[in-house]
Amino acid sequence: MSRAQWGARDYRQPNGATPYSRKRRGVKLHYLGTAYQDRNHLSCAAYVRQLQAQHMDGNGWSDIGYSFVVCTHGYVYEGRGLARRNSANGNTALNEQDYAVLLMVGSSGLTKPTNAQLDGARDAIDYCRTKGGAGTWLGGHRDGYATACPGDTVYAWAKKGAPRPKTTTPEKGLDMDKKQVFDAVWEQDALRAPSTSTTAKTNPTWKPGNALRDTYDRTNHILDAVKSLATEVAALRAEVAQLKKGA
Ligand SMILES: [Zn+2]
Ligand SMILES: [Zn+2]
Repeated sequence: MSRAQWGARDYRQPNGATPYSRKRRGVKLHYLGTAYQDRNHLSCAAYVRQLQAQHMDGNGWSDIGYSFVVCTHGYVYEGRGLARRNSANGNTALNEQDYAVLLMVGSSGLTKPTNAQLDGARDAIDYCRTKGGAGTWLGGHRDGYATACPGDTVYAWAKKGAPRPKTTTPEKGLDMDKKQVFDAVWEQDALRAPSTSTTAKTNPTWKPGNALRDTYDRTNHILDAVKSLATEVAALRAEVAQLKKGA
């Protein structure tokens, strides 16, 4: 979700706009480190806004510290994103070194990430690699810094290479390849380049990265729609099978 979608406050200038000065080695994962109870997805954005407020008003940082945040429902929230240096890894050198991705699970209460969340975190990692130029290194906040973060479960998953959880996609034919969808949406957008450059001229805050993010969001929407269609088809098939048995 873009910052506008989760209702982010503007980051402070100039520090919030500090770019990375070199390529990222990879991605570090984080957890909340506090008690966390799972919640309805409708309150997830408010929770991310609360994190941002803690970081800006409590810690005095110029923005939410993380590059990306992933809720238990698998949604990815843009924090500092791909271009602006995060402030979550412990110190400036560590922030320069790796992206910071938070999984919204606690040190007590809900401590185990959901499959949807691991799926979302995997998306975020891939996004950092393919669009942010991050290397393949993968680890946790605790690597090179004295902290329990990101907790044993998330850390073990990172060290296994963050495998995508096996989901029960019932309809093979509808199991679309994410990269193909992304490329298709991107290509379609490229055909609309004239209007995009008009946007760039009239909207001073427009950046090429926004288009990329929009494409990424739309890709996810398409895949979500396909997934729910697949679920419906499976349910209908099960009903038909039941009816046949009855007949
Ligand atoms: Zn951390
Ligand atoms: Zn959520």
